[in-house]
Amino acid sequence: MPFFSEVPPPLTPEPVVAPVTRDVAELPPLGDVAPVLRAQRRTRAARRAAHERRLAARVRFPVRGTARVDRAGAGAFGDHRGSHVHEGQDVFAPAGTPLVALTDSVVLETGSGDGRGNFVALYDRRRHRTLVYLHLQRPASVRTGERLRAGERVGRVGCIGSCWGDHLHLEVRRGRSPQGEPLDPRPLLRRAARAPGRGTA
Ligand SMILES: [Zn+2]
Repeated sequence: MPFFSEVPPPLTPEPVVAPVTRDVAELPPLGDVAPVLRAQRRTRAARRAAHERRLAARVRFPVRGTARVDRAGAGAFGDHRGSHVHEGQDVFAPAGTPLVALTDSVVLETGSGDGRGNFVALYDRRRHRTLVYLHLQRPASVRTGERLRAGERVGRVGCIGSCWGDHLHLEVRRGRSPQGEPLDPRPLLRRAARAPGRGTA
């Protein structure tokens, strides 16, 4: 054979492909992945449920006494009132019935004098919600910046401001503002009604 037909040796060595060192035995067989995923989902669900239980334990019904919450009608959240929509839920109770913080919160604002009558706004940082109470009998018994535990007194039921009949007008607003998007307060009220030391709903 003529010498020029020989293949010249490569200038650099062929790259060595690293062998796969992971032992396939350490990977679960494909059929076993589903139970692993199910177990992870169960853990996540359990953690979520525990978080929900902790939140529920820190909820108190805002009216400490006999109270009535109408599912429909003028006092219900979302009721259409001609020029506007009812942005809160009314909780009817006799004048003077104590009002308490629904959740652990900080007093964001208090005031008096307009259609809201005497009012107080509480900010719940854990839920990122603002809870607004209107028509209190007297100015709120708490001050801006005060930290409250669920169940601590904030005032009494009345009918001051734009109001017909003694009741708490309760608003739940998204975020840290009494002007945030209004949300239906009834889920939180229902939860509070089931909590220990509740008023009646
Ligand atoms: Zn109302």
